[in-house]
Amino acid sequence: MAYTLEEIKKLPKTDLHVHLDGSIRLSSLIEFARKLKIELPSYTVEGLKELVFKDQYKDLPEYLECFGYTCAALMDLENLEQAAYEFAYDAFNDGVYRIEPRYCPSLMLNEKNLYNNQNIITAIEKGLSKASKEINETIRSSDEIKNNLDQYPWADKEFSYTHILCIMRHWSPADSKSYIEELLSIREKTDLPIHNIDLAGPENGFPVSLHKEAFDLTNKLGLTKTIHAGEAAGPESIVEAIEVANAKRIGHGVNLFNPNYPYPEEKKAELIQKMIDNKICIEVCLTSNLQTLPELEMKPENHSFKKMLDAGLLLSPCTDNTTVSNTTVSEEIYKMQETFNLSGANVESLLACGFRSMFRVKSQIS
Ligand SMILES: [Zn+2]
Repeated sequence: MAYTLEEIKKLPKTDLHVHLDGSIRLSSLIEFARKLKIELPSYTVEGLKELVFKDQYKDLPEYLECFGYTCAALMDLENLEQAAYEFAYDAFNDGVYRIEPRYCPSLMLNEKNLYNNQNIITAIEKGLSKASKEINETIRSSDEIKNNLDQYPWADKEFSYTHILCIMRHWSPADSKSYIEELLSIREKTDLPIHNIDLAGPENGFPVSLHKEAFDLTNKLGLTKTIHAGEAAGPESIVEAIEVANAKRIGHGVNLFNPNYPYPEEKKAELIQKMIDNKICIEVCLTSNLQTLPELEMKPENHSFKKMLDAGLLLSPCTDNTTVSNTTVSEEIYKMQETFNLSGANVESLLACGFRSMFRVKSQIS
């Protein structure tokens, strides 16, 4: 039996692929912009939705335009802390118990935060940690929430988070290496949760192997990786993510079954088997893919989700950007269920996959 959207909201869920800078509340964006004197095309939520943060975008550049505004608004430590705090609450209010927001602190550097990555990670940690403590208080004091959670043995009984720090694909190999070195030195002198790395940015033309030295370092020092791969390049990009970066999860992976990216069937079968054997989960971002990949023609049924599922791959539904993609984890799951005729058991196994594929080091639980 399928679930209603209201029922899905109550199911415990995870969001393992979500960019903090694409997931700030529009009301806060307006507040931040006023404070920092950033010009916005509108100062109402409705106006911003009409002009910038749309349901459909004509192409990737239009989608990326949103980040110009959100990133400018986040170049301020107080704003970052507030955005992280609100993001945690928005997730919890959608029934999400595990969030792994990702961001690249180096994109937020300016004179106000003293060009210092540590200050940025600290501000985000403050917001996430404060929200998480409050949320866990709420969970502990509510029999209704506890009884609901008890129905799902695969779900965590508490709210938790970690940070994922992005390397940008278009950086030079020397820059990505020194960034990792800097993150490691911050980790040594603080207790900031620096455990997980992502590779984001333009996939085509900037392969994982370009950053081999940086990834060798992460492999040596036990940092866990998820890599955006198979979104704007073919299956060979996923292979590199696993072989060079030792990725434990793959962001998108949608081109694994895209005929525009031809790949020998035998090698594809090998790759799929390797992902299954090593429990490498694909973070599926259905709405985001529809908005940025014109070949899907905005039709969810054109997405290769069903092929991924039928191939036996581990899949976890994610938002990518709650604000820019105007979605929630519950809406993503509902859309998948309705488009691909998923059963209730299918839905539950997708959610269980999210909890099993969490990056295990927890930032704090009190
Ligand atoms: Zn992403």
